[in-house]
Amino acid sequence: MQENDGIIIANPNAPTGVYFEKKDIVDIIEKNRDKVVIVDEAYIDFGGESCIDLTKKYENLLVVQTLSKSRSLAGMRVGFAIGNENLINGLEAVKNSINSYTLDMLAIKAASEAIKDVEYFESSRNRIINTREKTAEFLKNNGFNVLPSKTNFLFVSHNSIFAYDIFQKLRDKGILVRYFSKPKIDNYLRISIGSEEEMELFCKDIIEIVKK
Ligand SMILES: *Cc1c(COP(=O)(O)O)cnc(C)c1O
Repeated sequence: MQENDGIIIANPNAPTGVYFEKKDIVDIIEKNRDKVVIVDEAYIDFGGESCIDLTKKYENLLVVQTLSKSRSLAGMRVGFAIGNENLINGLEAVKNSINSYTLDMLAIKAASEAIKDVEYFESSRNRIINTREKTAEFLKNNGFNVLPSKTNFLFVSHNSIFAYDIFQKLRDKGILVRYFSKPKIDNYLRISIGSEEEMELFCKDIIEIVKK
């Protein structure tokens, strides 16, 4: 394996939505015992299994999560890191000098209330997962290749129409999805999962585009 100064891996991944099984993450940690491995679990609540428990076993592992997605607090800018005492001490030592997003009291209060509200959390993330699966099924039945997603978005390509053309036509209809003009992913669209009504509208509109 090539030398590195540490590893940061988003699991589930963005923008693909693909989830690595825990054993694959263990493999990375095991092979890099003298390096810090950061697992960014921004999307973990949408179907994956967290690596938090592994921080007890591996002192080179730091797991980070955000309240911006599954906890519905985008804009509050709250996240957290879980890991071995030495790693956390390292973060504590620098956080007030190089971190431009220090937390204010209100943000901390909002975040802890959001964590406590298990019922709201469960219902909103389950709703997103259900809508995601429904949308994925619909797209698969209509000529799209849909990567398996454990996030709140889908990463898709169509079997005959170029992603950028679909992107533009959706935009003309007032529907915004993400297009990346980068090698390997330039024929894919990243579609965030909205409400059930929004996704029904999206499906109706995208079908008009690909059927022509
Ligand atoms: C959203 C996101 C974050 C964190 O977002 P904040 O709003 O800054 O908390 C981190 N990593 C990934 C991959 C994300 O998608």
